[in-house]
Amino acid sequence: MLTDLQDLNLAKQPLERNTEQLGERIRLLLKEKNAILLTHIYQRLEIQRVSDYVADSLALSRLASKTDAEVIVFCGVHFMAETAKLLSPQKTVLLPDLASGCPMADMITAKDLVNFKKDNPDAPVVCYINSSAAVKAESDICCTSTNAVDIVRSIPGDRVIFVPDKGLGSWVQREVLDKQIIIYDGFCPTHYQITTNEVHRLRKAHPEAVIIAHPECDPSVWELADFVGSTSQIYKFAEECPQEEVIVLSEHGLIRRMQADMPQKKFLMTFPNPLCPNMKYHRLESVINALENMVHEINIPEYGVANGLFERAQRTIQKMFEITEAKYSRNYWLGARQEGFSVMSIA
Ligand code: SF4
Repeated sequence: MLTDLQDLNLAKQPLERNTEQLGERIRLLLKEKNAILLTHIYQRLEIQRVSDYVADSLALSRLASKTDAEVIVFCGVHFMAETAKLLSPQKTVLLPDLASGCPMADMITAKDLVNFKKDNPDAPVVCYINSSAAVKAESDICCTSTNAVDIVRSIPGDRVIFVPDKGLGSWVQREVLDKQIIIYDGFCPTHYQITTNEVHRLRKAHPEAVIIAHPECDPSVWELADFVGSTSQIYKFAEECPQEEVIVLSEHGLIRRMQADMPQKKFLMTFPNPLCPNMKYHRLESVINALENMVHEINIPEYGVANGLFERAQRTIQKMFEITEAKYSRNYWLGARQEGFSVMSIA
């Protein structure tokens, strides 16, 4: 059973020659095309190694809005690249493998949301950033798992619609008691693989370990955790907690990266390992293909000027930044590249 990552500390092993050459080609192409490579922490480690920045969705969306590069290559899932395009419409945004979508984001369409709103016409809509541009356009404000509680608290009134993630929505409801959160029935198939039985098994086998969970897990799972937080908050908590054994209820790529960065700790995960297959589609070869041929560009043509959907989706994200910028502007990973591996630190 594959639950102990200390023996799997592949991140620090020397790269195969071919992988190294592909990485060098990517760095060269990025320079040639005045491009930046933004990578989510769930991605393959060989992609993380050659990226300009490795971070979670909040940090990546902020970086996408601030970069001077003409081209953004996004190694994440489709909604993340779409968010980058919304924030930087004048830039070319490439998603190396267009099959890389998010099943949770696909659980709600703009039409579904319009119908959902009909039952609750006076409640403002908060959408998780894991949603399409069309859903964002039908929402009042966006949030990430890092700032969801603050965003919901900032909204006047006592009722709020939250889409699409019922795990995160339930977590927000637990933290914000003076509002009724009307939660859509979407979920993350990867985090929902984690079962309470597995958590109990690990707790019994490792009684000294601390348990940390992502709120995208089923509420019955995150209720068993000692700490619940977003990807960046999980990373920070693991770095700062005194425990040497850490049980992480989240995606495999994050845990693998933490094990690589914190070899003095022992990270444990549930079985089967919660791996998001959609995040692993991108390969070094597909990054090279996208850059060489300038293909797999993200466009949002259906949200034309006529109906203003592009601008409405953009505004939904910008409102989030306006509310949380002061609190979270420094709470992200800075991925200065060093010795071929992006170094993450939380400011
Ligand atoms: S881990 Fe879950 S929420 Fe994240 S991209 Fe995969 S399916 Fe979507």
